[in-house]
Amino acid sequence: MKIGVLAVQGNFREHGAMLRRLGADVVEVRKPEELEGLDGLVVPGGESTTFMRLMKLYGLDEAIRAFEAPILGTCAGMIVLDRDHLGLVDVEVDRNAYGRQVASFEADLSLAGESFPLRGVFIRAPRVRVTGEDVEVLAEHEGEPVLVRDGRVLVASFHPELTEDTRVHEMFLNAVQEAAKPPVRVSGPGEGVSGEPGGAPAHSRRRYGRVDVGA
Ligand code: GLN
Repeated sequence: MKIGVLAVQGNFREHGAMLRRLGADVVEVRKPEELEGLDGLVVPGGESTTFMRLMKLYGLDEAIRAFEAPILGTCAGMIVLDRDHLGLVDVEVDRNAYGRQVASFEADLSLAGESFPLRGVFIRAPRVRVTGEDVEVLAEHEGEPVLVRDGRVLVASFHPELTEDTRVHEMFLNAVQEAAKPPVRVSGPGEGVSGEPGGAPAHSRRRYGRVDVGA
């Protein structure tokens, strides 16, 4: 699996190290053409305003919008991918809404489908305020989403690359592996497809409280 890590700024090296530990080939991405042939992309933490500025400068914003494989965004990466920026994940977030640098913290998070908690490292993290109806919440902190999935895009407001726990990266690499498989033809029209009429359960759009932290 060939995974790109956006390397214009921020903590891309830690992501690269974790992905290599999990057996991926890692490519640092600084130019649009370096996205070619990748099976997945990581947008790391850093400073989202700097990311957006540098990405525009190099034409990486449009190139990432057009990138079709799975993406993992962490912290500033979540902001870059949200509704107000690249628009690849249907969430609205508030930057730095947990407070100033001193309000950075760690917390045990319960992860969907896992019995063992995940340690979340939050560093001037974005706070998810609104999730669109197709967004799945995979982990919460005090009732607010901190790890969510919108189709092929997985975003965390914390830094999974800064702990020894590899589960978020594994989740991403599993999605990469799934996406890379050739499509399986299960059945076609008139071949007796069974299942629930109406498809997926209806999700509702959720809004989370706004807390003024005076940051
Ligand atoms: N506060 C940063 C921003 O708003 C994100 C911090 C981080 O990625 N650790 O872009």
